[in-house]
Amino acid sequence: MSINLQTPIDYLKGVGPNRADLLRTELGIHTYQDLINLFPNRYIDRTQFYKINQLQRHSAEVQIIGQITALREVAQKRGKRLVATFRDESGIMELVWFRGQKWIRESLKLNTDYVIFGKINWFNGLFSMPHPDLELAEDHKKSLRSSMQPIYPSTEKLSNKGITNKVISSVMQNLFLETKGEFVETLSDNVLKTQRLISKSDALLNIHFPKNSELLSKAEFRLKFEELFYIQLQLILKNLIHKSKIKGFVFEKVGDYFNTFFNDHLPFELTNAQKRVLKEIRHDFGSNAQMNRLLQGDVGSGKTIVAFMSMLIGLDNGFQCCLMAPTEILSVQHYNGLLELCNKLNISIEILTGSTKTSKRKEIHENLENGQLQLLIGTHALLEDKVKFKNLGLAIIDEQHRFGVAQRSKLWKKNTSPPHILVMTATPIPRTLAMSVYGDLDISIIDELPAGRQPIKTVHRYDNNRLKVFRFIRDEITKGRQVYVVYPLIQESEKMDYKDLMDGYESISRDFPTPEYQISIVHGKMKPEDKDYEMQRFVKGETNIMVATTVIEVGVNVPNASVMVIESAERFGLSQLHQLRGRVGRGSEQSYCILMTSHKLGENSKTRLQTMVNSSDGFEIAEVDLKLRGPGDIMGTQQSGVLNLKIANIVKDKAILQHARYCAQQLLKKDPSLSHSENRVILNTYRQLSKYINIWNYIS
Ligand code: ADP
Ligand code: MG
Repeated sequence: MSINLQTPIDYLKGVGPNRADLLRTELGIHTYQDLINLFPNRYIDRTQFYKINQLQRHSAEVQIIGQITALREVAQKRGKRLVATFRDESGIMELVWFRGQKWIRESLKLNTDYVIFGKINWFNGLFSMPHPDLELAEDHKKSLRSSMQPIYPSTEKLSNKGITNKVISSVMQNLFLETKGEFVETLSDNVLKTQRLISKSDALLNIHFPKNSELLSKAEFRLKFEELFYIQLQLILKNLIHKSKIKGFVFEKVGDYFNTFFNDHLPFELTNAQKRVLKEIRHDFGSNAQMNRLLQGDVGSGKTIVAFMSMLIGLDNGFQCCLMAPTEILSVQHYNGLLELCNKLNISIEILTGSTKTSKRKEIHENLENGQLQLLIGTHALLEDKVKFKNLGLAIIDEQHRFGVAQRSKLWKKNTSPPHILVMTATPIPRTLAMSVYGDLDISIIDELPAGRQPIKTVHRYDNNRLKVFRFIRDEITKGRQVYVVYPLIQESEKMDYKDLMDGYESISRDFPTPEYQISIVHGKMKPEDKDYEMQRFVKGETNIMVATTVIEVGVNVPNASVMVIESAERFGLSQLHQLRGRVGRGSEQSYCILMTSHKLGENSKTRLQTMVNSSDGFEIAEVDLKLRGPGDIMGTQQSGVLNLKIANIVKDKAILQHARYCAQQLLKKDPSLSHSENRVILNTYRQLSKYINIWNYIS
């Protein structure tokens, strides 16, 4: 009979109530199981022993055997410190404690062999080691400890309360003694064999007490694989269940709206990527399962037309469709872009935003409910309960990263059974991340820009070159082009940013005086109608320069704009810079992006700027972004739970993730309900895990 791993941690030898409380609050360790799954952050090599006379001033962490020959207290500014004289046959050094002195004083044995370990300082002509890790040499020999010593996650409170790394190691050791190191296997024989993984018990032993580095890496591989495997299994299963359970509206035919548009009004030849994605979407429409698809495509890759054509299929089948965008400006732009086409095709279309007048709003509500209105474009206003459709068949969310998960699910409820959902994003996230975060969505990718686009020339300029930059802008305006100048707006320092923006606007106005030059300004503090007015002046070409905050970041389309100047570019994140740059290069003219910064730049900022100058590939940029910021940050706090992995790392363990996903897919292909006896272990583990890590909550 093996020990129940759900046993509260209080019962483990060496833990006791106080420590148990601390382990719970500080590390979330409640049970034996939780403790086993506390994996070391890193390991240090303790095969090597130093002699005191071998120490170098730059030595990092060292291990020495010797004896304490004397103890004394030394008064200092605040309180006192405890200093021990420590010697081996080659020399003398000092050990120093600033805290916990009473306890140490009472427990230390003089003239007895100790193994000490820690960082050393050079102080007053002697080496000293503050707060050494120390252990009687005799115990050191006996302990299960191996050459690679694990360093566990800790917190300040834990170490202040004496729960040091050594204490954790020793309770871990007790746990292994008590359980005899025998743990239930959590992967099937088949998976173990085909993936050449070591057993669970071996993996756990070697992750905590590695015998050598080879076994350690095998243990790491096994545990990372397992972690990623079960996440993928969960995501894929969820997707499968979803497809089998949630019936979607079947859009049987491609009818007149689509065909007329395709034959008579399509303004350009679709790219192959656009065609492929449309095919994927049409396949979903015909499949009698509800579509839940993420469309990723770089800025300017032409997602809007794909969205529109998908909506035409919905209309062809007698359903209403809606398109939701995160900002008023973007909604208006979508509306204006589609209005003309809809008029030609005799489709009724309306726009609903926060600034829609009450009378108009009422009319829209009515026509939605009686079915006269076919297409609705708008902002969050679409989500209001008052907005009821007669028969919504397809809901599209543009720039979905701007919306929360809750909003996506609100759209689901806009019909008796959920409409097809297409979410679009121009902030591409690397495939590996998409797999683990959006594993429950099907993913389509537009990986090709429309033909004839010239790559945008991107340069980095320092503030003191501003005059040259202005001269360049003037030349472009003379050629008939338009220019964006964007200022950062970051919540915490809104006032400052606003001032920067206004100062910038003034200085630009001085250098580009009326009536020769016309300047638009758009920022978040303006009323929507004023914003729209200014925006429209720029769209129509009445103004030459658009001074703005990041409100223009998403989606705005002015093909004649050829220069994007980004002020204080070091303050923007990579994906934001890339988005902003995507506002230009939409016409046939050569476009430019100028990143302005001060001379003071951190390493991280330099990398971001360099990446922008060197690359125009959104996916490549996203990879760098992921490395710089880490996955949690990119997805926002909402989704970071998914990425809160115990041992694997989405960035570093990309290959294992892909492998684990493939393995999970293959398994489910053969045994979708995990009912084969050989998969019993996997089913059990899966059920067990679903109780704890419910990643479903985070992403559905
Ligand atoms: P995004 O994917 O960033 O939303 P848009 O849908 O706004 O991109 O498209 C950017 C521009 O490219 C628009 O002016 C659009 O009309 C144009 N466009 C889209 N597809 C094509 C194509 N296949 N050929 C030429 N131009 C296209
Ligand atoms: Mg767009």
